[in-house]
Amino acid sequence: MEKINQLKVELGQVIASLEDYLRCRKEEGVEGLPVSDEVLPLSDERLPAGKACLLRNIRQELGECTRCKLHRHRTNIVYGVGNPEARLVFVGEGPGEDEDRQGEPFVGRAGQLLTKIIGSINLSRDEVYIANIIKCRPPGNRNPEPDEIRACEPFLIKQLEAIGPKIICALGTFAAQTLLQTDEKISRLRGRFFSYRDARLIATFHPAFLLRNPERKRDVWEDMKMIREEYCR
Ligand code: SF4
Repeated sequence: MEKINQLKVELGQVIASLEDYLRCRKEEGVEGLPVSDEVLPLSDERLPAGKACLLRNIRQELGECTRCKLHRHRTNIVYGVGNPEARLVFVGEGPGEDEDRQGEPFVGRAGQLLTKIIGSINLSRDEVYIANIIKCRPPGNRNPEPDEIRACEPFLIKQLEAIGPKIICALGTFAAQTLLQTDEKISRLRGRFFSYRDARLIATFHPAFLLRNPERKRDVWEDMKMIREEYCR
């Protein structure tokens, strides 16, 4: 059963990539593809908006962003990574030192732990999408400030709209409080689902917090079990 589900995911990704490829060719002005002696027209009915294409367009709109002061110290914008068709999206706070250097979210020690957490519910990083509230590293890893969130969060919201996940998992206090617009502590927010636009949102402890407080891993495991049940529903 697991193998069939994996094949379904892979087939979905191939179809999505093909749709995305065709849509992008059409946007570049290609009007048809040669099929034997015939030309197969590319009509809009055949090509629903490709999510990968939408994500690329949002990245282009972001550009070499200078919309907030965090651009001054960054090495790379950390946009987001993963499957554009993901049914589960993880949202963290912002890039740390490793992420800033590599331009990818959750690649340091906390990232390795997140990969294991994702694996604990029989998924891989390639099957989910991972992003942050803000896309440039705050100096000294301080919390992002309100004006920085105001400038950056709209791009995360566009990414979430493009992907349309079933479940969003907010990692840590800051991501949970920002997405849910609350001051509640993460310990009171975790362990239950909220409505967030068209998705179900659950919050859990940030992997970096777990590295310092391994005794909270059991709580995260309970949250992950809830995600797995919702994912398979
Ligand atoms: Fe732009 Fe976001 Fe970076 Fe600020 S944090 S400069 S809004 S990409």
